[in-house]
Amino acid sequence: MRRSRQQLSREECIDILQQATSGVLAVMGDGGYPYTVPLSHVYADGHLYFHSAIQGHKVDAIRSDSRCSFCVIAQDEVHPETFTTHFKSVIAFGQIHIIDDEAERLAALRRLGRRHAPHDEAGLHHEIDKDFTRVLMLRLDIEHLTGKQAIEMVSNH
Ligand SMILES: Cc1cc2nc3c(=O)[nH]c(=O)nc-3n(C[C@H](O)[C@H](O)[C@H](O)COP(=O)(O)OP(=O)(O)OC[C@H]3O[C@@H](n4cnc5c(N)ncnc54)[C@H](O)[C@@H]3O)c2cc1C
Repeated sequence: MRRSRQQLSREECIDILQQATSGVLAVMGDGGYPYTVPLSHVYADGHLYFHSAIQGHKVDAIRSDSRCSFCVIAQDEVHPETFTTHFKSVIAFGQIHIIDDEAERLAALRRLGRRHAPHDEAGLHHEIDKDFTRVLMLRLDIEHLTGKQAIEMVSNH
């Protein structure tokens, strides 16, 4: 990163991934165009998990090339008086895979469901029973994680 004072620590990056509920996944799309698609995520132990329909642009892209990045914007506060925004964001680079193992798939779906509705275990079971065969679970194995904040947010900048 060019301006290292703006760099966030690994702990801050992980905290942002844990707090945020969605970000933008970038994959190698059709015809050499990068395909960026917003997705809900959940972070656990160096991985990001997503759910997806079985078919579509995103899944086609992932099947042909697993390299990807996922960007989360944690803060974007406009300060008109200085023509700036006070921002904080994270980018996770890695490989994204369709989870084949049934137990891992179920665990990932439960994790994602609990992230959205932590107090509705019965509802979660019902949803999973209804949709389990119609959903793909994706796991992004994070290889490199960077975070950056606006220079104005750095103390003594
Ligand atoms: C905050 C947020 C959270 C989301 N969470 C999830 C999630 O957890 N799981 C999930 O499967 N989907 C989620 N979506 C929807 C997601 O962005 C995609 O629309 C969906 O995954 C289908 O992707 P696809 O590549 O299969 O699209 P396809 O159905 O193959 O789409 C065909 C074309 O439509 C366009 N397109 C698709 N999605 C979008 C979009 N969101 N905005 C603009 N153009 C689009 C693209 O040009 C694409 O090539 C979320 C969207 C938002 C905004």
